[in-house]
Amino acid sequence: MYNPKSSKAEEFISHEEILATLDYAEKNKTNTKLIDEILEKAKLRKGLNHREASVLLASELKDKNDEIFALAEQFKKDFYGNRIVLFAPLYLSNYCVNGCTYCPYHAKNKAMPRKKLTQEEIKKEVIALQNMGHKRLAIEAGEDPVNSPIEYILDCIKTIYSIHHKNGAIRRVNVNIAATSVENYKKLADAGIGTYILFQETYNKESYEFLHPTGPKHNYCYHTEAMDRAMEGGIDDVGLGVLFGLESYKYEFAGLLMHAEHLEARFGVGPHTISFPRLKHASDIDPNAFLHGIDDDIFAKIIACTRISTPYTGMIISTRESQACRERVIHYGISQISGASRTSVGGYDHKEREHDSEQFDVSDQRTLDEVVRWLMEMNYIPSFCTACYRAGRTGDRFMDLCKKMQILNCCHPNALLTLKEFLVDYASPETKKVGEALIAREINRIKSEKVKELTNQYLTKISQGERDFRF
Ligand code: SF4
Ligand code: SF4
Repeated sequence: MYNPKSSKAEEFISHEEILATLDYAEKNKTNTKLIDEILEKAKLRKGLNHREASVLLASELKDKNDEIFALAEQFKKDFYGNRIVLFAPLYLSNYCVNGCTYCPYHAKNKAMPRKKLTQEEIKKEVIALQNMGHKRLAIEAGEDPVNSPIEYILDCIKTIYSIHHKNGAIRRVNVNIAATSVENYKKLADAGIGTYILFQETYNKESYEFLHPTGPKHNYCYHTEAMDRAMEGGIDDVGLGVLFGLESYKYEFAGLLMHAEHLEARFGVGPHTISFPRLKHASDIDPNAFLHGIDDDIFAKIIACTRISTPYTGMIISTRESQACRERVIHYGISQISGASRTSVGGYDHKEREHDSEQFDVSDQRTLDEVVRWLMEMNYIPSFCTACYRAGRTGDRFMDLCKKMQILNCCHPNALLTLKEFLVDYASPETKKVGEALIAREINRIKSEKVKELTNQYLTKISQGERDFRF
């Protein structure tokens, strides 16, 4: 029986409720009156439930779909302004005991060279990332209790936070590791992580078990209930995501929103972020062997519908996607992107991109400097901000500000300050020129005279060598 407040996976992600939702959405996909009512509700900016959102996703009315995209674009501006936060993944280890059929790190892939970074190697990786200008990382590791136990992950986090090369610093470490126990989540919370990210891959239990034939990840309920344990362990911010291409996208979309509703119902805080990965080619993985691939139009619609259904949630797109695709969907609500990513273990400390241990092919292979300039040329402010977590604005404290559309008052000046640091320390002359002009324009858009004055003071101090100012 469907119960968003339940702690049991099969009750808060009810298969029957998803099927009923898909049926309802299909029957109403050209119901103008209902779609208008849902859009009116969406305009209140308080979100939509999975049934309402699924009707919008199914809508086949061009004028209504145009409204959905326009609303998503407006929400993005209202809640987050024109800043886009940048981060990079850091692969620690690709040892894995699981049998995920869509990932080249699966245990049976004997062609995959296995690597695990030593603390010394992590230091080199982090220096390489700091030298590009990164301040925010998402660490990734396969599941292997022998090669990468929780103690190893904790050591890595400690090492990463301890490195300060020139003006560089990693100020926020998000963690993407396998579902684990409350006790281990407590350890991660104590280590000062930002967001705990775990992709569900698919919400369909039957498909999930088929796609995860071996290893601890086979256990659907343990995996699906991981975010509950993370929150019980004291992690305030959790990040959801499915791997689009494994199951019908409509099923996944409904499941994703039900998961968000569940976290809200049980803990009073929805997901901090939702990521949007699509299945991609990798070592022994052919995406065409999977039956549910989605094209760019559907992908964009999923992103727009998520934006207006969960306006308070950060939305992430990685370098799995091409520049053209990222350029399109960024307007519909994406608030964070990765840049200059290497998806191999130890990939940053090499000049040339290494392909042998990559988790997936990177479509957008531009440098961070190029990504920063590209964003600015589209009138976005590239942001390296990590202020909220460091100021204790996490969980419900963050959500409260975000829902009242006040977080923007912090995001905007913080984006300018961290961009300024990037321009002074790492940018090419051309990027610097575009960036200084952007900061000069954007500073005038700060409404509070006091904040504007302080921002100007901080910008001057950054030019003089001081770092790490924040609101
Ligand atoms: S998706 Fe994660 S758990 Fe599955 S094989 Fe890849 S690294 Fe291992
Ligand atoms: S102020 Fe908070 S929400 Fe805004 S960019 Fe910085 S860390 Fe993110």
